[in-house]
Amino acid sequence: MVEAPLTCDVLIVGGGPAGLSVASRLPDDVKTVIVHQDQEIGLPIRTSGGCWTDDNDRLGIPPEMYNVLEVNEAYADEAHAIIPLKGNLPAILDTPRLYKWLASQSDHKDRDLMLGTKFTSARRLGDGRFESVVRSRDGVNRKILSRYIVDASGWHVAVLRALGLSAARPERLGVGTEYEYPLGDNAPDRGIIFLGTKVPSGYGWAFATALGTLRIGVGVIQPDTDASPRKLLDAVVADEALLKRYKLKLEGEPIVHSGILPSVAFEDRMVWGNVIRVGDSANFATPTAGEGIRICIELGRVLGEHLGRAVTSGRDGPLKAYEHRARRQLKTNYKWGFLVNTRIAKYGPKEWNASVRRMAKLDTASVTGLLRNDFSRKKIMAMASSGGRAWVRARLNRLKRA
Ligand SMILES: Cc1cc2nc3c(=O)[nH]c(=O)nc-3n(C[C@H](O)[C@H](O)[C@H](O)COP(=O)(O)OP(=O)(O)OC[C@H]3O[C@@H](n4cnc5c(N)ncnc54)[C@H](O)[C@@H]3O)c2cc1C
Repeated sequence: MVEAPLTCDVLIVGGGPAGLSVASRLPDDVKTVIVHQDQEIGLPIRTSGGCWTDDNDRLGIPPEMYNVLEVNEAYADEAHAIIPLKGNLPAILDTPRLYKWLASQSDHKDRDLMLGTKFTSARRLGDGRFESVVRSRDGVNRKILSRYIVDASGWHVAVLRALGLSAARPERLGVGTEYEYPLGDNAPDRGIIFLGTKVPSGYGWAFATALGTLRIGVGVIQPDTDASPRKLLDAVVADEALLKRYKLKLEGEPIVHSGILPSVAFEDRMVWGNVIRVGDSANFATPTAGEGIRICIELGRVLGEHLGRAVTSGRDGPLKAYEHRARRQLKTNYKWGFLVNTRIAKYGPKEWNASVRRMAKLDTASVTGLLRNDFSRKKIMAMASSGGRAWVRARLNRLKRA
């Protein structure tokens, strides 16, 4: 039996933070379908969930969904620093819970959530609508007719590739593996990052979570290195002297998480007629630390509001306004961030030792700016006066010329 096509106003491909946030802000009566290839929202875990308390307040994320890190430290081969963070502290999100909460914000709307369903192709029909094909886990294909398609499929860029709007997946990727252990005797409010020989072209992290666990992970940029993050992480967790230095105790069998995100220069086109991208499919994760969740939620909500206006008015002005907003918020910051990203990807142990020593001397605003990829003029000047002045000036001039 051939099922009749589903018809909707908006098809959202991907039920991660970006796609769910778009749906949360669409008007209640805009018929929306979200297709999500995983069986459950938020699982498997593919992200570390690092965030900042001020953003969580601003975005209305309930405090029970994250664990605040009061003590933050950085390690290089021969350097150690207490990172001088105050006020806006880092925190770790319980992402399965957060994503389910984001999904619940469109439960009351005219919205279907199709779990375990993969978007496989799309074509534009003569009447301007899109005919998409989705496949369920048991191999059944179904057609969906929609007026708009949102690509929220993350690094897969599934919709843009299917419609020939993007030729390939991103050529440079951040690839990470993380092990989750019981917290045991480890501090419940401490986070560390580690850099240098153990993590070429990337960085490592360890922190306590809201679930009473300890996560330790490694992320690298490929193809800058062909090292496997899992092998690097195995070497770290097997090195007792190193763990002692990091003040970590790992006990029991870990749960394994792994994930991928794009690590390419920001491109500011978001809209192709009635096809719109948001989240990692639009390179929203920060180039400095690969932090994307808060940006996906914020700009996902902005897109939901504008797309709602476009659907009801039939005009494309609101979508251009979304594109303009994303460009204004991210373009300059991400140019700076990407310069930092490509520069530090080449760092060796000597540069990391110097960097970690410098980090201890930076003021809170500068170090937060760097970690959050916030390169406002004031922050750049503060960084220039704390170190790296010649490099900052040269880049500032180059950016001005661009
Ligand atoms: C190792 C690692 C660590 C990270 N750490 C942090 C961190 O500490 N803090 C932070 O803020 N960010 C972090 N990020 C980045 C963050 O996870 C992403 O920026 C964010 O998840 C992007 O959200 P999204 O909704 O755009 O895409 P995703 O979260 O990737 O969601 C897209 C969803 O779409 C689904 N999908 C893909 N293709 C299809 C298809 N064809 N059909 C149906 N469904 C499809 C996927 O299964 C996926 O679940 C990390 C990323 C990685 C890889």
